[in-house]
Amino acid sequence: QAKQDGRNCFGYFSPDMNNNMLARITLEQSLRSAVLQHEFCLHYQPIVDTSSGEGIALEALLRWRHPQRGLVPPDEFIPIAEETGLIEPIGEWVIQQALRDLRQWHNQGIMINMAINVSGRQLAHGDPSHFACMLNGLLQKYDVAPQYIHIEITESMLMADTELSLAALTAIRHLGVEIYLDDFGTGYSSLSYLKQFPISVIKIDKSFVDNMLEDRADANLIKAIITMGQSLDMRLVAEGVESEPQRSFLQGLGCDFVQGYLVAKPMPVSELEPLLQRIVRVRPTSLQ
Ligand code: C2E
Ligand code: MG
Ligand code: MG
Ligand code: MG
Repeated sequence: QAKQDGRNCFGYFSPDMNNNMLARITLEQSLRSAVLQHEFCLHYQPIVDTSSGEGIALEALLRWRHPQRGLVPPDEFIPIAEETGLIEPIGEWVIQQALRDLRQWHNQGIMINMAINVSGRQLAHGDPSHFACMLNGLLQKYDVAPQYIHIEITESMLMADTELSLAALTAIRHLGVEIYLDDFGTGYSSLSYLKQFPISVIKIDKSFVDNMLEDRADANLIKAIITMGQSLDMRLVAEGVESEPQRSFLQGLGCDFVQGYLVAKPMPVSELEPLLQRIVRVRPTSLQ
């Protein structure tokens, strides 16, 4: 392969550094063409009511169908997409595709919500209403009511630039779109710090859920997050719930919603239909 032969041209770098750089450049180039070649797709994973199992929302999770490498998970390419700025066109594609799919489900009377992950870079513009304007345009285009859309952001985003992220999130919230705080507990912010942001729902990170039945400290942390979230009028989702004992423990603590392999793995639209039939009450479509 030409790329491997090229290794010798940079003899003054350590081989490791060389390989990393080449891998990075190759990844960046194929990521660039992926946008143009339509190699991305979305998988969806349900978020359900902890007690009734009723479907509340679907989270859109990005996948890259690489022509040689197959399905590439987001953790392997989103960091590069963020660094290079490619996350902007990719992120906009994610919103378009999620709204297009949601429009189809709403047409069938399946009135589910859609949760969409957004990177800090997508919100960090000189004009804090930039993202909200783009989102609003797409909501109009696909004729989706804003209250069906949830934007998932992470704690680290809030810490990066408080003023700017507060303005950007406020603009989104003003559209009527709800904001979810993803992976909560992995950053260093306190819930009282979070109070200033327009957050409706906290997603408790999977790492706490994993050990909560064996580890008292993790169980106590989850209890504390739920109690404080409730006192701030926020609702709670536990992510990465894989077993029935985990679900019932969370139910006992008053955690509103769960998401995880216990309910379903993320899946492509083609496999989603039977699941939706099972967990979402279908509203008869109105007479046209
Ligand atoms: P996330 O938003 O916290 O998504 C949850 C991740 O946990 C997903 O991984 C999901 O497949 C996985 N997961 C869910 N339930 C379980 C479970 O019960 N057990 C285990 N072991 N895993 C579970 P995925 O799809 O690989 O996504 C990883 C991360 O990539 C996401 O974490 C999110 O931060 C990011 N991401 C995904 N799609 C997008 C996107 O469209 N835009 C941006 N900016 N980031 C995205
Ligand atoms: Mg998420
Ligand atoms: Mg998460
Ligand atoms: Mg996570």
